[in-house]
Amino acid sequence: MKNAEIIAVGSELLLGQIVNTNARFISQQLADLGINVFFHTVVGDNPDRLLSAIKTAEKRANVIIFTGGLGPTKDDLTKETIAHHLGKNLVMDQNALESIELYFSRTNRVMTENNRKQALVLEGSHILPNDHGMAPGMVLETNGNTYMLLPGPPKEMEPMFRYYGCPALSPKDAVNEKIVSRVLRFFGIGEAALETEIIDLIDAQSNPTIAPLAGDGEVTLRLTAKHVDEAVAQSMLDEVEKAIRVRVGQFIYGYDDTSLLAELTNVLKEKKLAITAAESLTGGLFQKELTSISGASAVFKGGVVCYSNEVKNKVLRVKQETLEKDGAVSEQCALELAENAADLIGADIGISFTGVAGPNELEGKPVGTVYIGVAIKGRPTVVEKLTLSGTREAIRNRAVKYGCYFILQNLKVSQNA
Ligand code: ATP
Ligand code: MG
Repeated sequence: MKNAEIIAVGSELLLGQIVNTNARFISQQLADLGINVFFHTVVGDNPDRLLSAIKTAEKRANVIIFTGGLGPTKDDLTKETIAHHLGKNLVMDQNALESIELYFSRTNRVMTENNRKQALVLEGSHILPNDHGMAPGMVLETNGNTYMLLPGPPKEMEPMFRYYGCPALSPKDAVNEKIVSRVLRFFGIGEAALETEIIDLIDAQSNPTIAPLAGDGEVTLRLTAKHVDEAVAQSMLDEVEKAIRVRVGQFIYGYDDTSLLAELTNVLKEKKLAITAAESLTGGLFQKELTSISGASAVFKGGVVCYSNEVKNKVLRVKQETLEKDGAVSEQCALELAENAADLIGADIGISFTGVAGPNELEGKPVGTVYIGVAIKGRPTVVEKLTLSGTREAIRNRAVKYGCYFILQNLKVSQNA
């Protein structure tokens, strides 16, 4: 079993000047290869501390991947430290030297002596060519461990790792194994609740694996299967997906890179339905997001931003009585907004957003109170009340997502009816 540790070398990482995106990239690639990553280490440009990080890593990993410190300057000491630790010499790699010389002559620059240093490699190592820079990477197998050295700049490291590093790491017997993934996207259920519903499936699976990820009011599950036959891997994914759908299928709204807005647009196009919006709380955010999807014109003619009560009343004909008695943030107001917008614009669906984004309460209603009205032609209008938390920005963003979700849910119900 291969267990990897990633050691990122560079004082600027510790100083917070740059983010360790290299560790993220390498981890993602290793996950696809089925290699466990148990530790990320960050260490400064200091040989003693780097040595101690290497010794620690050797106790808990058998694949140690280094990034950074392969350059020509004095603070670049990754290679030297590893060579010393493993009792290996650094030898000149002729190919690497030639490509460095070529690089300098091509760019009309004078090559200095310390640039030769970049062509020094660990004796006995396998070289990973650098197609986007000068310092070659290398892989050394020794004492039952794999040591891989990669340059720091992501534009050099990423292609090197992808094209030369990963193949050097994939287990020989798994070379022909195909890896397929599928992302299930959820809305309306929290990460914890989702995990509780399927915890036994998560615990029992090793192939396919089920990995939850939460963010931005949404949760996703990444399913990954490995098999020599890709069709078999796909059907393994189908099986797990089926088991998951039995438990929490009502919260799944799409696959892979889609979004709620994209799904909504697709469904509306498919059903040839036009939509409009009356937006108070969200100030046009729903319409902005909708129109950022190409092809939205097929389902959207326009809508109204009705921030003030005056516009709600004069343009969207919300009854004065409603505004006085129930207030702008109310079920009745959301209902009238959605229905009247659909009527006025001549759309099949009207959606309305009214609520309190904060920071102050409104009409005695607390921050986060949101009403979303969904008026679909030929069906009774529904109004959903939500209590959202977070910043003004977060509340508005989430309200838009909920709006899409409610319409999708309602259209699904009408289809089944
Ligand atoms: P160079 O030849 O450019 O000196 P190097 O292999 O010596 O490359 P470093 O000197 O450690 O690498 O880093 C060079 C640059 O690469 C950094 O300034 C930073 O922009 C980027 N970099 C280094 N390490 C990381 C990391 N872990 N994540 C993201 N970027 C990194
Ligand atoms: Mg450097």
